[in-house]
Amino acid sequence: MVKGNVKMKEVILVKEGEIFLKGLNKKNFETILVNNIKKSLKEVGPFKILKQQSTITIVPESEEFSLDLAVKKIAKVFGIASFERALVVEKDFEKIKAASKKYLKDELETKKSFKVFAKRSDKNFFLSSPSICAKLGEFLLDEFKNLHVELNNPDVVVNVEVRDTYAYIYGKAEKGAGGVPVNSAGEGMLLLSGGIDSPVAGWMMAKRGLRLKAIHFISPPYTGERALKKVEDLVLILKEWAGIVPFFIANTTKLQEEIKKNCPQDLLTIILRRCMIKIALGVIEREQEKGYKKSGALITGESLSQVASQTLGGISCTNFVSSVPILRPLIGMDKEEIVSIARKIGSYETSILPYEDCCSIFSPKHPKTNPKLFEIEKAEGNLNLKELIDSVVEETVLKIF
Ligand code: ATP
Ligand code: MG
Repeated sequence: MVKGNVKMKEVILVKEGEIFLKGLNKKNFETILVNNIKKSLKEVGPFKILKQQSTITIVPESEEFSLDLAVKKIAKVFGIASFERALVVEKDFEKIKAASKKYLKDELETKKSFKVFAKRSDKNFFLSSPSICAKLGEFLLDEFKNLHVELNNPDVVVNVEVRDTYAYIYGKAEKGAGGVPVNSAGEGMLLLSGGIDSPVAGWMMAKRGLRLKAIHFISPPYTGERALKKVEDLVLILKEWAGIVPFFIANTTKLQEEIKKNCPQDLLTIILRRCMIKIALGVIEREQEKGYKKSGALITGESLSQVASQTLGGISCTNFVSSVPILRPLIGMDKEEIVSIARKIGSYETSILPYEDCCSIFSPKHPKTNPKLFEIEKAEGNLNLKELIDSVVEETVLKIF
């Protein structure tokens, strides 16, 4: 970056989030976080990563490395509490003064109030943190006549960190994505529809450290190419936050036709939901047999009372067929809350595109809200369910974007 005619070296400082608290596991979490940062910046340009205390410093290694793009990517890496672009300065107080003036000039010139916040991890530096604040504050007050000092809620904070090798100067720190690093809590298989809810559910579990796989059920010709493309776009949006999300596409047309033909209409939704779980489990097993890591949980976008199948009765009938926990992070959320997360993560506009879903096509007018397990099992007895499900699992296709 060039300001005035002085060339300045900028880095990105990343402050770790909750991993701070993880005691002995801290090292593991950090290694995973650093890996995730590396992956997310892979296409931005050459850089190196330094670790000091709980700060990770990203140092660009060529002009090609775009800091603008890098901070956008970093904002989507879980496990980060905050991050900021910072100027690297020699640990010479005169240089720190001059550099602060130049680096934050645009803000300091246009705002009214400011304060200096200093942190000194190098205790050998000749000024204490309060002295840095006082002396630098005095200097900046002198330089910018428009400014006054305000300790609570100033327009600009001039942050100075004096570390082992260099000092760093920055203005506002950005809030990070929070949570814990993806891949630090195992893997979950997300049942991903084209709706608003399930992408949000996947995002929430990635935020809690799960690596994601996703499975989507199609029923051509009742569902079309555009509906599938929409879900693939959702996978790409999730990828920005969660890294690569291997995507399974399972064709349930024949299965759904059989259910419709042979089972009571008011039980179709719940029987299909149980089948979805069984198919997802079958795919997990199939992948495990191929030597891939096992998904230890399923994830759905269900929210209690949202629709007829999302009742305690419906949920418990679904749970009966699963050998792994079914995570439902939206269970206690209102639609409005879910929508606001969908907007924040960038999935909302895609989710509301009006294409048909396999569930809605076969869904009965009056689904049973409180199904009993024995009646569902009886109805399923009319089908050759194992064979139908095995064949869906066998033909499920994997796509990796
Ligand atoms: P969403 O907005 O996620 O579609 P929804 O409120 O429409 O959810 P349902 O259609 O009842 O609710 O689906 C409940 C959950 O079942 C979804 O959140 C999703 O996890 C899963 N699901 C539904 N349809 C599909 C599908 N075609 N493929 C994969 N999973 C699905
Ligand atoms: Mg849906």
